Amino acid sequence: MANQDPLHPGLFSWPSPEPELLGSRCAVCGEHAFPSQDSCRCCGSEQTEVVGLGRTGRLWTWTVQSFMPKSPYRTDETAETFCPYGVGYVELECGLKVESRLRENTPETLAIGLDMTLEIIPVRSDENGTQLMTFQFYAAESP
Ligand SMILES: [Zn+2]
Repeated sequence: MANQDPLHPGLFSWPSPEPELLGSRCAVCGEHAFPSQDSCRCCGSEQTEVVGLGRTGRLWTWTVQSFMPKSPYRTDETAETFCPYGVGYVELECGLKVESRLRENTPETLAIGLDMTLEIIPVRSDENGTQLMTFQFYAAESP
């Protein structure tokens, strides 16, 4: 089995049997941010801490990426092998809306308000054969 590393470290708990998104919470006003921030965008405080943001949320809005995005999008895919995917904003328990890739990729399988769950998926392999991982959400049930 190939080694796996996060594509962007610090965005989700890894490795973990039940990975969750990692963000920051302001100790002064309670504002959450994703990715985590060193200072609060709401009150300017620098008293922020990294917190788990959970692994579930509700689909707030979505679209389908049906053609291969331009650079800097990087995968092992080519224009011929590209598989469409969903893109959306998922509203987390804390109220934060996070832009995410979605497993579902057709209008029939996506609907605003769906319960979504986080999963970690391989994006591509680096030069050493290590699989680079990112997060996406999938619908816990069909619309
Ligand atoms: Zn704050």
